[in-house]
Amino acid sequence: MDIADVASDLSQALYSDQQIQDRIAQLATQIDADYADRADQDLILVGVLNGAVMVMADLARKLKTHCQMEWMAISSYGSGTTSSGVLRPLKDLSVDVTGRHILVVEDIIDTGLTLSYLVDNLRSRGPASVEVMTAFRKPEAIKCPVDVKYVGFDIPAQFVVGYGLDYAGRYRNLTGLGVLDPKVYAQG
Ligand code: 5GP
Repeated sequence: MDIADVASDLSQALYSDQQIQDRIAQLATQIDADYADRADQDLILVGVLNGAVMVMADLARKLKTHCQMEWMAISSYGSGTTSSGVLRPLKDLSVDVTGRHILVVEDIIDTGLTLSYLVDNLRSRGPASVEVMTAFRKPEAIKCPVDVKYVGFDIPAQFVVGYGLDYAGRYRNLTGLGVLDPKVYAQG
């Protein structure tokens, strides 16, 4: 679905499918260049389920660098439009990352809590390097202690949906990104 299909649920359309694809392509070019001298071992992309599914699929296909696609799932207890702050791992990687180059692929960084937890967890496994790419970043993320090397778009501090990001399980398959109209939460 695209923005026009759910226009009445959005208070603002932020980015179209094409704008997102163009930006991910630019980041892929940058990542290819940055990893060109590390081609002795394939890069490991670590996506965070479920939100990073779209950005992972798009980034991986735009890269010319060989890469493995791995997934982790982290629960932040609770639901709705704010996170609870308590994290626990739900699904781990299926490979040993000791001595490997890792690129974490995130959908969105809000407080940065999920990301710091994940990066600390990955660093403790002795990888050669850990860098982070995110499709979207909110202003709060500035307080996050983790350096984010590749950022698709800096967006306002509002609850957004689309491009893998859901509300109550919906809108992940929206190709663009928009701000969810608060009347949608009110409906329950
Ligand atoms: P953080 O730990 O950085 O505060 O939050 C990260 C997670 O919260 C994201 O991976 C995402 O699942 C969820 N999240 C944060 N902001 C939004 C948003 O605006 N929309 C949606 N749908 N999820 C969000």
